[in-house]
Amino acid sequence: MIERSYISQEEINRQMAVADRLNTELADRCLLYYVETFGCQMNVRDSETIRGILERIGYHESPDKEHADFILFNTCCVREHAEKRLMGNIGSLKDLKDEKPSLIIAVCGCMMQQKDVAKRLLRRFPHVSLIFGPNVLFRLPEMLASVLEGHRTAVTSEENYAIAEGLPQFRDNPRSAFVNITFGCNNFCTYCIVPYVRGPERSREMSDILSEIESLTLSGVTEITLLGQNVNSYGKDLPEGSFSRLLNEANKIPGLKRLRFMTSHPKDLSDDVIRAIAENDQVCHHVHLPVQSGSNAILKKMNRKYTREQYLETICKLRKAVPDIEFTTDIIVGFPGETEEQFQETLSLVDEVGFAAAFTFAYSPRAGTPAAKMSDQIPESVKKRRLSELNALQSKKTVENNAKYVGVEDVLLVEGYDDRSGETILHGKFQNFKMVYFPGKKDLMNQYVLVRVLSLKNNSLIGEQINE
Ligand code: SAM
Ligand code: SF4
Repeated sequence: MIERSYISQEEINRQMAVADRLNTELADRCLLYYVETFGCQMNVRDSETIRGILERIGYHESPDKEHADFILFNTCCVREHAEKRLMGNIGSLKDLKDEKPSLIIAVCGCMMQQKDVAKRLLRRFPHVSLIFGPNVLFRLPEMLASVLEGHRTAVTSEENYAIAEGLPQFRDNPRSAFVNITFGCNNFCTYCIVPYVRGPERSREMSDILSEIESLTLSGVTEITLLGQNVNSYGKDLPEGSFSRLLNEANKIPGLKRLRFMTSHPKDLSDDVIRAIAENDQVCHHVHLPVQSGSNAILKKMNRKYTREQYLETICKLRKAVPDIEFTTDIIVGFPGETEEQFQETLSLVDEVGFAAAFTFAYSPRAGTPAAKMSDQIPESVKKRRLSELNALQSKKTVENNAKYVGVEDVLLVEGYDDRSGETILHGKFQNFKMVYFPGKKDLMNQYVLVRVLSLKNNSLIGEQINE
């Protein structure tokens, strides 16, 4: 466990002073930014801070890359194909940069924390002017000032894991917000790059988290999702504080209607947390509980620190305590050495649990992780076949799971719409994460609406609004 530390208030003030100076200097130019985010919710959350800083500097959001003066890619490196995609994206901006030499192209995020990738990118793309890793995000004003002075700037691989509080934020959604509770990860699952690029696990002070939620609810936010790589281990590095206590305390905040959290690690989901889910009115009845594999031998090789039986027992306990709870999961197929029998154990677990949805992945070797060095790598063709078998089973289970909702009436929070067919189809989620589509007016966006589920179409639930 590392000593938790904070970026000093003086340093944050210094960065904000640079942002304000740039704001004055750039005041006569109408500057636009475009931020493209890859990967998980942590990156989405980081992009909100980046956008907050850019707005403070005086930039405004551009609807597309073509009109932007500052284009930033916030990258992910959890799986391999992300790097190829990023390189393609950056390569395609060369013409835009030639047409508009003042355009700043920047790349940040987990991938830039990998020294060799950052170096490769700088060498290959002279039109990229700024590169930085997630732990130096608070220095964006200073880094951008340096680029504006004509210096190509790269700040990566800094072993600085101090927490930065009090940075400006720019969140899109007026009702729903992500709030970080931990950064980094200590688990070192053998396939995973996250602990190497995001550093050791650090919990935010509970008082900082609660006051952030309070100020969000005061501004009209009613749904909060607490974020961490392993939310259940929140507070292990604090003198007092645990995830269950955080849920209990956050639940009391006036104006909060839905409290969500992700990701939960099965090894740390304690009885206290189960009780907190069952007993707190605002805590949603949904747990994203990545199982990764149904085989004990593979779970051991993955260093997941639970068995299939323990995972199933946790599911049972949660279902007993919270009967309408829904589970989603992450699964990897084709981990090194995975036999056909072991893959069948994953299928049987998926069949047994009945997840509402699963995010399924073919194992992707990540340089520097133990699994990438294992000698018994599985051929891509086998991974692909296993992935499609798993997806076929999960689709069947999703339909089965959805079928029980036909006839159900519940409140959902509208989060999007599609009007391409001429008719506006809204969608939103029940508190337990079930998504329903229904025809309605666009002005219901971000509203809570009572809906009755009428039918199942393909894998989706179709409903109607009950009261205007
Ligand atoms: N912290 C979360 C947990 O422990 O479940 C997950 C974080 S990770 C960014 C999201 C998912 O990506 C993992 O649950 C895993 O299924 C998948 N993943 C991570 N590394 C992978 C790899 N090398 N190959 C394929 N999938 C991977
Ligand atoms: Fe990666 Fe495992 Fe940490 Fe999740 S718990 S981020 S899978 S090392």
